[in-house]
Amino acid sequence: MTWAAPSAADRERLAPDEVFAAGERNHHVSNTAYPIAHDLTWGPYRVPRVEQRTVAELAWRGIDDLCLYAHIPFCEVRCAFCEYTVVGQKELDRTEAYMDRLERELELWAPLVSGRLHGFDIGGGTPAFVAAPRIARLVEKAHRTFARAPGYGVSIETTPKIAAAEPAKMRAYLDAGIERISMGVQVIQPDLLRVLNRSGNGADLHRRAVDNIRAAGFRRFNVDLMYGFADQSIDSWRATLEHAVALGPEYVTLYRMRYKLTRISHQAERVRLDEVRAQATLAKELLTEAGYSASPGKNTYSRVPGDVGTSEYLTKRVIEGMPYLGLGLGAQSFTHTTISYADGAVGKNLLPYLRSVDAGRLPLQDLYDLPRTHMMAKFVAVSFYFGEIDRAAFAAKFGVTLDDAFPDELAFVRSRGLMVDDRRALGLTPEGARHFNGVIALFFAPSVQRYLLERPLVAAEEDLPDHLRLPLAVGGD
Ligand code: SF4
Repeated sequence: MTWAAPSAADRERLAPDEVFAAGERNHHVSNTAYPIAHDLTWGPYRVPRVEQRTVAELAWRGIDDLCLYAHIPFCEVRCAFCEYTVVGQKELDRTEAYMDRLERELELWAPLVSGRLHGFDIGGGTPAFVAAPRIARLVEKAHRTFARAPGYGVSIETTPKIAAAEPAKMRAYLDAGIERISMGVQVIQPDLLRVLNRSGNGADLHRRAVDNIRAAGFRRFNVDLMYGFADQSIDSWRATLEHAVALGPEYVTLYRMRYKLTRISHQAERVRLDEVRAQATLAKELLTEAGYSASPGKNTYSRVPGDVGTSEYLTKRVIEGMPYLGLGLGAQSFTHTTISYADGAVGKNLLPYLRSVDAGRLPLQDLYDLPRTHMMAKFVAVSFYFGEIDRAAFAAKFGVTLDDAFPDELAFVRSRGLMVDDRRALGLTPEGARHFNGVIALFFAPSVQRYLLERPLVAAEEDLPDHLRLPLAVGGD
């Protein structure tokens, strides 16, 4: 494996106690959405457009096991908290044209990428917005393009509104070989739903949606919930949790609002860390009482013994850092040495993506050829979805043990009781889960740690000097 040489900023070693404090202080951004401030921290590793194809081809060479992700960027309306690549109202009638290009993009990648698929997630946006036969066609095409590994599975997302209104669509997914479905409930507090621009997806629809999902035959059903909003009271969060449990999903996934790149990022500074911690603690208590479990720091709870609850795609990404090919507008791809974002990641505009595919070009907006420090940081950031780092997977991927890569940081987390070792992984303790934002920063590359150290506490993002503002560039995880 050959990684890019680190820049001077990525050869520093910063004191763990200072980095930990900076991560805690910047808890709104020090999270699994790595990196922070692309322009500043990943700028040195950006591959010029003319070299992208060659670098991508080299990066995918020799990869025998991978996952696949397809991004469907259509949504009826844009939720105020949304950080994803979603197109506007005027694009909503272009789903057929888009699905054509998605299939074509798969053909463009096929000569460069081969191997066995371990998981396929169809996400968005709202994949359920697209006609079910087009989803089935895409799944079939993926299966014709790649071999499938044992344990392979396909997962899709829906909104409550679509699941409630279109029972035939739910059945069509099962027929297409999709076995896991995830529904975004997020919150049920009506005034908060209005602020978040999610009226129309309220609690009144959820029972009908779940009945349709169950009647279709889904036995792997996840509900997404969100906390950490300004004006989200602990009582309303309790009501949301109780409502979700009453829907009877196999899994519940909790997302803390991350604010980065959203329309309500100005509200971030009103969210206090002690309030967020109280919400996370309440969720743990209520879900545990209801028979769901998750190790400390893990955000997907499962009530199925032996089933971690996440899709095969995400599980492989989190535990093994398995490479994945992302198709569609703004989609992220990850090899052992590179991370790329497809056209549209910044502009959230379909046109550049459609044009690239029509011209027979890989629709790459940004490709970063990264040093090992950043690839390790990305691996660890995603690992923290499960609250642990798999030691063997880390060593296999990077050719160095976790202890050798992060000696001072591991001494810090062990001595303070923030992480402990079991036979397989280094995992967060309950105390470590409470200090998640500080712990995760310890594994970031030095340039990102430096960014956190220098970022002052301000009332609003707009008050920051230009070079420290979160860019309106690609992000996400
Ligand atoms: S949060 Fe989900 S449903 Fe809302 S705009 Fe974003 S992708 Fe669409």
